[in-house]
Amino acid sequence: MAGMQTEQDHATSRSGETRHQVVVIGSGFGGLFGTKALRRSDVDVTMVAKTTHHLFQPLLYQVATGILSEGEIAPPTREVLSGQDNAQVLLGEVSAIDLERRTVTSQVLGRETVSSYDSLIVAAGAGQSYFGNDQFAEFAPGMKSIDDALELRGRIFGAFELAELGAKRGDNVDHLLTFIVVGAGPTGVEMAGQIAELAHRTLKRDFRSINTRSARVVLVDAAPQVLPPFGQKLGAATKTELERLGVEVILGAMVTDVDERGIEMKFKDGRVERIDTVTKIWAAGVQASPLGRTLSEQTGAPLDRAGRISVNPDLTLPGHPEVFVVGDMISLDNLPGVAQVAIQGAKYAAEEIDRRLKGKPSQGPFKYFDKGSMAIISRFRAVAMVGKLRLTGVIAWLMWLAVHLFYITGFKNRITAVLHWFVSFLGRGRSERTTTEQQIFARTALARLKGGAADLVSEPGAYDAARSLLETTRRAELEAIAAEEARLTDQHERGIKVGRSAS
Ligand SMILES: Cc1cc2nc3c(=O)[nH]c(=O)nc-3n(C[C@H](O)[C@H](O)[C@H](O)COP(=O)(O)OP(=O)(O)OC[C@H]3O[C@@H](n4cnc5c(N)ncnc54)[C@H](O)[C@@H]3O)c2cc1C
Repeated sequence: MAGMQTEQDHATSRSGETRHQVVVIGSGFGGLFGTKALRRSDVDVTMVAKTTHHLFQPLLYQVATGILSEGEIAPPTREVLSGQDNAQVLLGEVSAIDLERRTVTSQVLGRETVSSYDSLIVAAGAGQSYFGNDQFAEFAPGMKSIDDALELRGRIFGAFELAELGAKRGDNVDHLLTFIVVGAGPTGVEMAGQIAELAHRTLKRDFRSINTRSARVVLVDAAPQVLPPFGQKLGAATKTELERLGVEVILGAMVTDVDERGIEMKFKDGRVERIDTVTKIWAAGVQASPLGRTLSEQTGAPLDRAGRISVNPDLTLPGHPEVFVVGDMISLDNLPGVAQVAIQGAKYAAEEIDRRLKGKPSQGPFKYFDKGSMAIISRFRAVAMVGKLRLTGVIAWLMWLAVHLFYITGFKNRITAVLHWFVSFLGRGRSERTTTEQQIFARTALARLKGGAADLVSEPGAYDAARSLLETTRRAELEAIAAEEARLTDQHERGIKVGRSAS
């Protein structure tokens, strides 16, 4: 593990004057929209996030299935905020928040940074939950990050490749042509639908020894219906549509084991069934960022089963009006874990900070405005809920298209996303089918290192020492080589001299 080097982030503005310092944790929907909402405020904003990009999670499944590139849904935060003079971006995973001293400690590759704040917005989101079976993660990646999506892309397309090789040898390849998605929420539905489209449309002419249309795509959930938050009617319509696409929907089945070669499910009546499959995708359950626990321990605010922290009606923590928590991390009035809750919460927090600085009264409790929900099933098929309206089919799909296009960050990303959608939805192609061995195996390899990626870089001090050693011992040698190279050229001593005999 690399040694720790600590830097203090200065709590002064670029002009040298001390201004109100806002630290924002996270560059997702809450973090980015909160930072942007403070652009006209008399504050300095430091956004600390463990990735260099803002991630549009709702389209991760399209990266995993080769429709979009990772750049289209994950623009660099630094570029997005380049025009906002009062904002700076710091790369780092927040490991500690000290509410007493008002500091946030973050780390990257063993280097530590401490940032001081006057106001704090915590928007660290949620990760995948395996309901206490974290060992499943090795064989069934979740769908939370660009790494996850690229790994899944490699695993899905790779399974077809291995099946082709196996079939050529005459092996049984059923386990390679079986794809299981666990969790029938929007992400699971979208993944299952897209894998079915891959097998039935995109890849159908690309292989010689396998018939990709014979691939088995299974969607499993312990619940009795798909998409429970969309209600029974839309859930049933979605199930019918998935089955029409060739997806096998298994409900009331709890996944009890996952290993390299398959999954085991247990039904309510006690029946246990195993499905042999190499490609498993985990789209069930979320667990709020562990930063919630840190905040809970310091304030006494309770956590729910998913690790979400209870916040005051104004999104602050008990006894700490200067700390706002927004988005997937919070438990308040049964608000759902969706992008709009994070965006609206972050904008609300930014407005509160601005009002306090201007001496204006508070806005009152945070009020969430539900703009509706939607899930895509396949090309031209989606389900949507807007107020009391329930929509299915092409109309819902067009709505989905418009909304997602509106929220993708960056004009150039919108243009290229539309081009890629044309390729995939009107044609049968996929523009982003590139996969590499590293995409598939790097996560598991890194997990086997004690200190993660930090084990692969030198400690800052050791690196400098090695460099100075290199400087003293190698400089003279390199200079002599360079002088000899130049002499050979200047004195025309390279190659066979004209007139010299060959013997
Ligand atoms: C696959 C998928 C599909 C989805 N589809 C939809 C949809 O169709 N519609 C919808 O409304 N919602 C959807 N959601 C949910 C939506 O994306 C979330 O509700 C939303 O992203 C929450 O915003 P947030 O800011 O709370 O967290 P996030 O957007 O997850 O952002 C968290 C940020 O914090 C950073 N971070 C985490 N821990 C640390 C740390 N310790 N230190 C520093 N940085 C940290 C992360 O890198 C990230 O930048 C989907 C989610 C997923 C995973």
